[in-house]
Amino acid sequence: METYTLNNGKKIPKFGLGTFRVEAGASAYETVMMALKMGYRHIDTAQMYYNESEIGRAISDSGIPRSEIFVTTKIQKHHDGDIEKLKESLDLSLSKLNIGYIDLMLIHWPNPQNEVNATIWQLLEDYKRKGLFKSIGVSNFLIHHLESLFKTAKIMPAVNQVEFHPLLTQVALKKYLKAHDIQMISYGPFARGKVFEGKAFEALEKIGQTYDATVAQVIIAWGLNQGVVMIPKSVHEKRLLDNFNAQNLKLSNEDIEKINGLNQGKKYYSDPDNNINYL
Ligand code: NAP
Repeated sequence: METYTLNNGKKIPKFGLGTFRVEAGASAYETVMMALKMGYRHIDTAQMYYNESEIGRAISDSGIPRSEIFVTTKIQKHHDGDIEKLKESLDLSLSKLNIGYIDLMLIHWPNPQNEVNATIWQLLEDYKRKGLFKSIGVSNFLIHHLESLFKTAKIMPAVNQVEFHPLLTQVALKKYLKAHDIQMISYGPFARGKVFEGKAFEALEKIGQTYDATVAQVIIAWGLNQGVVMIPKSVHEKRLLDNFNAQNLKLSNEDIEKINGLNQGKKYYSDPDNNINYL
């Protein structure tokens, strides 16, 4: 599987499986097992998805060497920066996944208080130094959150996982991340299904026809062709395979620009400056 190299030298597979709303229990286990059999080697989970245990079990049962699979999870609650509670939370992710180390641990959402972000980051740095997390990063951080974090960080975030799709192309943030050597990971590539309706769909479908590709494949290829990590979620075998095969699709620069032109600058997920997912 093709990889990008992070700012710490570690490699991240360009393409992976998202698992938000992949139910804990049989569905999460079976979906991850199916994806691994197809060749997926990058799984994105989070404490908030309540499926870390099943995902860890599927990875262990798959028989694939641990070193060949890249696993991301995310710390959800900030506990007002209480170190002991935060450690408990990180340790719980390690024990639920039960796969030794975690490849990438992210702060899932920024706290409006920069000191709390700094405290959590320091802890992530400690776990990285101990080898429990191979890389650390952030998610949903806007430029102002990053600028504050840089004031105290000893280790630069390796990634920022953010909402990114043809209706929200994150022009300014993408440029900023590139300038700071922070890898962008896209979440919500299908904009909560909005790319499958209206004018955007018609434009994407037309582009897809020239490559004999589905709209989902065009979107995944559009992200990959621009150096973004793509982690679409599906629980269906055919879609998992379609999404996986999009890795082989090369779009022309002209088509990439056409898709960039669909940008509405509109968010379909929570606003990082106005959410309470960290509480
Ligand atoms: P998504 O991947 O944009 O969309 C998933 C939806 O698209 C599901 O309803 C899925 O349905 C459908 N789908 C998947 N492949 C398809 C295909 N080939 N054709 C048609 N429909 C298809 O949304 P997401 O799950 O919200 O985002 C992806 C991943 O990003 C998440 O799973 C999670 O790991 C991560 N994420 C991170 C954050 C964050 O705050 N860091 C926020 C949101 C998501 P079926 O499953 O029924 O196929």
